[in-house]
Amino acid sequence: MSQDRRPSGAPPRRMQLSPAARRAAAARRRKRIRRNRILFGLAVLAVVLVVVLGVRALFSLAKGKPDGSSVPESSSGSAAAPTPTPAASTSVDFTDARMILVNNNMGLPEGYTVETQTADESTGKQLQTEAAQSFAAMQAAAKLDGVSLILQSGYRSVEYQQGLFDQQVEKIIKTGENEEEAIIKAQEVVAKPGHSEHSTGYAADILTDSYRVMDSGFAETDAYTWLTEHAAEYGFIERYPRDKKPITGITFEPWHWRYVGAENAAEIKKTGRCLEEFWALYGSDAGAASSSESGSGSSDFGSGSDAGSASSAA
Ligand SMILES: [Zn+2]
Repeated sequence: MSQDRRPSGAPPRRMQLSPAARRAAAARRRKRIRRNRILFGLAVLAVVLVVVLGVRALFSLAKGKPDGSSVPESSSGSAAAPTPTPAASTSVDFTDARMILVNNNMGLPEGYTVETQTADESTGKQLQTEAAQSFAAMQAAAKLDGVSLILQSGYRSVEYQQGLFDQQVEKIIKTGENEEEAIIKAQEVVAKPGHSEHSTGYAADILTDSYRVMDSGFAETDAYTWLTEHAAEYGFIERYPRDKKPITGITFEPWHWRYVGAENAAEIKKTGRCLEEFWALYGSDAGAASSSESGSGSSDFGSGSDAGSASSAA
């Protein structure tokens, strides 16, 4: 290309070229024109391609909007089958008072009140009125199957829970801890006042004639087996299952059952979720306990005798 550069005003070089050189120059010119035509053709093709692809993308977006079909569906023969997602809805009404969620992070609502009545004549323990009647029916049904159910602990007022908590703090302070440390440690043994599910009136600690201790050994009894099979029919769900500790923040408590009503219990049991998960998935995520905060607490006293005295004055 350097031969094309010449001082302006200089006579055209072509005039001085030999016929052979002129033919060569003409051939170069034709070649350049051909090349330019090819480049132009390619550019036009590129523009057409971009336009076509753009229009197609717009169309598929528009088509995908109403039903989300723009997401590619995996073929039926694909090895990577999509993981089943939980049903998007549930018939459970989360404003139902029986669905209340109380845990380490969610306290009882301000001014919470509940009507209670005796649920187990043998222990005198109380539950919320409907829960109490349902417990009595469940106890009678279990008896027909040769299984004894004892309501070891039921409703505990917030004031009573406060008393229990203060006692525990005092006990720890006597071991030499300062008050701040004692309050933290007490929460591992006794639920904070306003954070015990027993204060809702819907929590029941259930034991059996042959096993009167609230520990994981209760899971080996026929009473526990009976409860896992039938409690939901009477509206009770297992509240702190063995494998849900990271979510509930509470260690496995096979004796602690929670009344939610038979229709709600059936729905929850069907999903295999604990109450926190059920709330987070279908209700509001506000209630889910954060595992980092909840640690490894216990909703009840560890020993049966403590728990018995805990509820006796409630
Ligand atoms: Zn309990």
